[in-house]
Amino acid sequence: MRKILVSECLYGGRIVRYDAGDVTEKDPRFLKWKEEGRLIPICPEVFGGLSTPRPDSQRIGDTVQTGAGVDVTKEYTLGAEEALRLAKENDVAFAIMKQDSPSCGSKFIYDGTFTDTKKEGQGLAVEYLRNAGFKVFAEEDLDEAEKFLAEIEA
Ligand code: SF4
Repeated sequence: MRKILVSECLYGGRIVRYDAGDVTEKDPRFLKWKEEGRLIPICPEVFGGLSTPRPDSQRIGDTVQTGAGVDVTKEYTLGAEEALRLAKENDVAFAIMKQDSPSCGSKFIYDGTFTDTKKEGQGLAVEYLRNAGFKVFAEEDLDEAEKFLAEIEA
């Protein structure tokens, strides 16, 4: 049975989001994979040493910064490295990561202007995963993830 790396805020249990919100994924397929013990949760930002709640941060060029201009690239990088380490250690089939996050976003991220504007892009942890060859889905793309898993395990 292949494992799946997931954003910890989707996995649920511990509150890890920057705004301390609860975005636990309730889709029956996700819950089934959780029950089967397939899911490996990681919150890159908390692993990197950041607290919950924490200031909203966005990718700006090669850095990640808070709205007040504090450079948190080091913490985000530590978390991205850990996500990749876990993916490799567990030989995951793919990852399901929370959309729009500067760590976990896989299609869109905020544009670095802190004006609530998104652009096409990916979070730092997703960038690490994809650069190493791992496929990454957003939580809204479970149809595709389910199909991909079925193909792998056929
Ligand atoms: Fe969720 Fe990822 Fe943000 Fe952690 S870094 S709260 S796992 S989106």
